[in-house]
Amino acid sequence: MHDVYICDTTLRDGRQMPGVYFTLYECVEIAKRLDEIGIDQIEVFCPGYVLKDYFLIRELNKIGLDKKLLVWHRGLKVDLEKSLNTKLKFGAVALSIATEKHHREQKLQMTKEQIIENMCEAVSFAKEHDLYVSVNAEKSVGTEPEYLIDFADAVTEAGADRIRYCDTLGELIPHETYNIISKLAKRIKVDIEFHGHDDMGLGVGNTLEAYRAGAKWLDTSVCRLGERGGFTSLEQVLYNLYKHFNIKKYDVSKLAELATFVQNVSGIDPPPNTPITGLNIYRHESGIHAHGVLRDVNLYEKVRAAEVGIKEGSMRDKIVIGETTGRESIVFILKEFGINVEKTDPVISKILNKIQEQYLFGRKTSVAHEELVELYQLFTAKNRVKPVTTLAEF
Ligand SMILES: [Zn+2]
Repeated sequence: MHDVYICDTTLRDGRQMPGVYFTLYECVEIAKRLDEIGIDQIEVFCPGYVLKDYFLIRELNKIGLDKKLLVWHRGLKVDLEKSLNTKLKFGAVALSIATEKHHREQKLQMTKEQIIENMCEAVSFAKEHDLYVSVNAEKSVGTEPEYLIDFADAVTEAGADRIRYCDTLGELIPHETYNIISKLAKRIKVDIEFHGHDDMGLGVGNTLEAYRAGAKWLDTSVCRLGERGGFTSLEQVLYNLYKHFNIKKYDVSKLAELATFVQNVSGIDPPPNTPITGLNIYRHESGIHAHGVLRDVNLYEKVRAAEVGIKEGSMRDKIVIGETTGRESIVFILKEFGINVEKTDPVISKILNKIQEQYLFGRKTSVAHEELVELYQLFTAKNRVKPVTTLAEF
């Protein structure tokens, strides 16, 4: 497979998510952590329009991250002028304009030719200032293919270094993405960048298919932060590139740490069954799974916690007791507390029955391991008052 480069847009598209507001310090910290993982480009807003980004770029200039910045602008010379007037250092810019018919007519009220003309003017201006240029065709999906190619050819002629194909509404399906990008890759003379939103949950699939089809640049966002249904996950794209395409240039062992930081500062708690970095990647409740894991964790874990930097602790931390727990887990946990019982011992059935009964009556939490010990003691204590253990005894 060809080379791949990641442009992470947590600090641009991620910040367009309603309710997510990073402080300046948090933005700097996210950029540093992206750099440590080996991310190739970090996208931010035009410093001429977003006040925080002026200070953010200034801070990133101080630590040498200007080389990794991609500064987003509308495809207008006036936007670029504003950024250049700040005298901040940045090596690359994104210039964006919508190319799809309804966006052209209803939003921009511009003809196809005017759009090309405006973008070419902005690209030429950027090149006069020695900037690397990613031209963004907003709403590439739905744009007439021939017009998209004419647009790409014209901006390439003006000096564009790559074309960002935008699935702005996250509406593609992976096989369709493959077909579109492979056709474009044959016709377009510069690199293709794929920018996939995740409205229908196919962002990662679309992004990987775009890569297979020839896209060199892939856009991502940490913790799927993005508008509406979110943006393509950095964690999922990097891990899949590592596992399925043998891409080793990114340090996936730092993914959990980065995701945890972004969760904390965004205030968005992902569910524990989040792919790649969710805590449940190493926790098991169901009897069949726990039985297997107690013998060999590889039987039920493909993504290993240590690979992405999650400290999974001991086997005891892996075993969760709940409604679907089986005998092996009960025996194992009791043994951890120094209680040796055979799994055929009747007390195990009593404990399991008691647990299941609690869930029948609406229990909502897992059973703490200490509770198992209490149940064991309840059922084995001598001279005890006989507890009600089954529904039939009520
Ligand atoms: Zn976007």
